[in-house]
Amino acid sequence: METELIAGKPLTEWENQYPLIEDLMVLKEVFWNNPKYRSFQEAAENISLTEKDVIYAEARLLRFAPYLAKVFPETKKTNGIIESPLVGISKFHNTAESIFRTKIEGTFMLKCDNELPISGSIKARGGIYEVLKHAENLALEHKMLRFEDDYSILANEDFKNFYSQYSIAVGSTGNLGLSIGIISAKLGFKVTVHMSADAKQWKKDLLRSKGVVVVEYNSDYSKAVEEGRKQSDSDPNSYFVDDENSTALFLGYAVAALRLKKQLEEMNILVDPEHPLFVYLPCGVGGGPGGVAFGLKLLFKDSVHCFFAEPTHSPCMLLGLMTELHDQISVQDVGIDNITAADGLAVGRPSGFVGKTLEKLLSAVYTVEDSMLYMLLNMLADSENRYVEPSAAAGLYGPIQLSMEPAGQDYIKKHGLKERMADAVHISWATGGNMVPREMMKEYQEIGKSQLADFLKV
Ligand SMILES: *Cc1c(COP(=O)(O)O)cnc(C)c1O
Repeated sequence: METELIAGKPLTEWENQYPLIEDLMVLKEVFWNNPKYRSFQEAAENISLTEKDVIYAEARLLRFAPYLAKVFPETKKTNGIIESPLVGISKFHNTAESIFRTKIEGTFMLKCDNELPISGSIKARGGIYEVLKHAENLALEHKMLRFEDDYSILANEDFKNFYSQYSIAVGSTGNLGLSIGIISAKLGFKVTVHMSADAKQWKKDLLRSKGVVVVEYNSDYSKAVEEGRKQSDSDPNSYFVDDENSTALFLGYAVAALRLKKQLEEMNILVDPEHPLFVYLPCGVGGGPGGVAFGLKLLFKDSVHCFFAEPTHSPCMLLGLMTELHDQISVQDVGIDNITAADGLAVGRPSGFVGKTLEKLLSAVYTVEDSMLYMLLNMLADSENRYVEPSAAAGLYGPIQLSMEPAGQDYIKKHGLKERMADAVHISWATGGNMVPREMMKEYQEIGKSQLADFLKV
């Protein structure tokens, strides 16, 4: 029988070189410290994006704020700024300590992107930003708009007619499609969303109700992206939002860091070498968590420690980083099915651009079982009355694993953080949830409840 090669070598050779692959293959939860992690100064040397790029992205969002406030009334109270609260979750902290029988030193917080206006997930950052940037470019090119204008004029009929000559396309597991679809349709673009098999029916229905063309695939995210890209490239008036390679998307996400810094300051929360910040980000293809982590590293440098969370069935970023093959390897290559309840994270092949950009900036990646996601989701709902989708619950596991896993403790010791942990802040990034229909959320909680009962039995 012919063996399939991965980047020229048989799987067994990769397993010998990286024994952790065997744990991934049997779907065991793992905590992988990144051996290439370096100081910010050293890591930033070979990255072309800078703080200036992020500041420009923030400025662009500010220009669009009057438009957003006008067409999305839910953003009126923040004057058209799409932002979410940062809150302490001490009750969840207590619950987690007692259920997992571990001490989690420091302050436990939640960044509530599950409450982001317009599309209820972290995709309301990057996805909306990229469409706005494209819309601005088109209008500037055609001399319909100047930077100094009040952008609320974009809500006028002549702009909608103008944009209706152009198309936007995207491939998605669901949430990116929601964000791109909603904002594109609002501006007047023709928009097509190519949905992977993971995408929930209600997301497709919602988009169709807004006039978005939804194309469904029986395969995973990579295929939906590939087809979407192919179809879009054949039409010169069509713009493809490339989740795997887009710097615009990445910078839109990175703006979150500037906003978070302000929120921390307003809450008098220090971040410095004596007060380390730990951030836990659920990761799919990598753009969302990668952009946010990049922005945070620019601002807080070595005082912030960024962790990615992936489902045990879709550990694509971990696999890409560990083998240094990035987008040249997929979880399917090593026999993992990429089937998970965390639909937003159901990605088999990571972004090569994100992996390479973050390769020395990311502290670690851990994986989470689906049953644990439901359990955490329900624990958060019961203790804090906050509702996140299964993907978003992955971030809640970070502080627990950091304190419980030997590899987590190794990380703390290696970086001289042991004595600092009492003054540490942990932020779990709740990446989505608000758009989930109530009935479905109830089902998730029920599953979580029974998972918890099982967990406490053993
Ligand atoms: C998309 C998504 C993520 C991860 O973002 P990527 O850019 O795919 O890595 C995390 N959580 C939720 C809820 C998402 O929809």
